[in-house]
Amino acid sequence: MNKAIFLDRDGVINKERGEYTYKPETFIVNPHIATVVSLFKQHGFFVIIVSNQGGIEKGIYNHKDVMLLNNELNKMLEDAGTYIDEFYYCPHHSDRSRCLCRKPNSLLIEKAIARFNIDKKKSYMIGDNIRDVQAAETVGVKGIIVPANSDLLPLANQIINGLI
Ligand SMILES: [Mg+2]
Ligand SMILES: [Zn+2]
Repeated sequence: MNKAIFLDRDGVINKERGEYTYKPETFIVNPHIATVVSLFKQHGFFVIIVSNQGGIEKGIYNHKDVMLLNNELNKMLEDAGTYIDEFYYCPHHSDRSRCLCRKPNSLLIEKAIARFNIDKKKSYMIGDNIRDVQAAETVGVKGIIVPANSDLLPLANQIINGLI
């Protein structure tokens, strides 16, 4: 079986701005992200993003916008010699529909666990919102909450050194 680091996107990978981020010019990557992704992958983790993108259902942006930003992120990471293995996102918004994929629901994490044959007990979810942790813990993955826009390098070092 494999192990994974699940990452929320907005506030973890890129700057949480207090509003939806869907334009490349407002997608500001947080400190040391390339190093952090690279470190996790060097230590045998799949790195998988699980993100709520309710702005899609609200009509503020569309699937193409999300995919464009995700591709931009991976291009930037590839320039640094690493990449995100997969991006999962929920396009729904709780005001409009009930779905099983919007965190704190866990469907997207469950899909990733099945597809990548993930050992939940060796995996982590890092998010800046309690719902990220809830989604993970529902399926038995350890959830870690961090302040929005923090430098993840110290945490990444703790994880790979087995301190968390
Ligand atoms: Mg977030
Ligand atoms: Zn959904």
